[in-house]
Amino acid sequence: MNENNNPIAFVSGGSRGIGRAAAVKLAEDGFDIAFCYHSNSEAANITRQLIEEKGRRSYSVACDVSDFDAVRNMLEDIEENFGEFSVVVNNAGINADAPLALMEPENWTKVINTNLNSVFNVCRCAAISFIRQAHGSIVNLSSISGVLGNASQTNYSAAKAGIIGFSKSLAKEMGRYGVRVNVVAPGLIETDMISGMTDKAKKDIEKKILLKRVGTVDDIANAISFLCSDKSSYMTGQVLQIDGGLRV
Ligand code: NDP
Repeated sequence: MNENNNPIAFVSGGSRGIGRAAAVKLAEDGFDIAFCYHSNSEAANITRQLIEEKGRRSYSVACDVSDFDAVRNMLEDIEENFGEFSVVVNNAGINADAPLALMEPENWTKVINTNLNSVFNVCRCAAISFIRQAHGSIVNLSSISGVLGNASQTNYSAAKAGIIGFSKSLAKEMGRYGVRVNVVAPGLIETDMISGMTDKAKKDIEKKILLKRVGTVDDIANAISFLCSDKSSYMTGQVLQIDGGLRV
């Protein structure tokens, strides 16, 4: 809480895509929003504007979530200058796809560090505060690739599967403190992350989706909103697969 008495949510990777949509949706739900991004300050400013248009306070910090010390400093800064948060959405992520036989070792490490180690970094640094508050909700972004696997994404799928194991374990640790930990596993969602896909590749996937369309950022933000709200107060350790019924 803060002087306005609004609860606070922290979103990683809030400058663009799913993270921005989640930040704006949570602002609509009544949260003041702190978020981080990697380097796109222009996009971050747009997110701040959208949050403030909802009548909520916003706070943004450039921070590489794969760097433990940077995350610790950022979260301390947020708590000191913005307020204590009771919701975390670990959304920041990247991909660097290639068949394993051609995958550069640095693209293995970079994807694991940014997608998986970042979740450890944020949760580790926020854990004591969550335990002290004795309530809260953590939502971690996995992917259908982490559930089913995907060719040319061994790095990304390993990170996203790791997030599921991590979250189920953390849910078992945190339940007694009233802190819930859940996972959203999106299918194909229209964002910058998939901008490299050809129209044909997208059309081919659409044929395998029961609802016959690629998802929108709001499809995912709505689920994140639900998991951060009291409407999901008896849910923890769950993986919500939101993929339009993808059958591969
Ligand atoms: P985008 O590429 O649109 O946005 C990525 C966001 O993460 C940006 O805000 C970016 O900041 C931030 N970011 C990237 N690297 C870092 C870093 N090292 N430190 C801090 N912030 C970082 O991604 P999406 O919105 O598509 O994806 C969001 C999440 O959803 C990811 O975890 C992704 O894996 C997952 N997902 C996406 C799917 C899709 O089809 N789009 C499908 C399944 C899962 P900046 O703007 O500064 O670069």
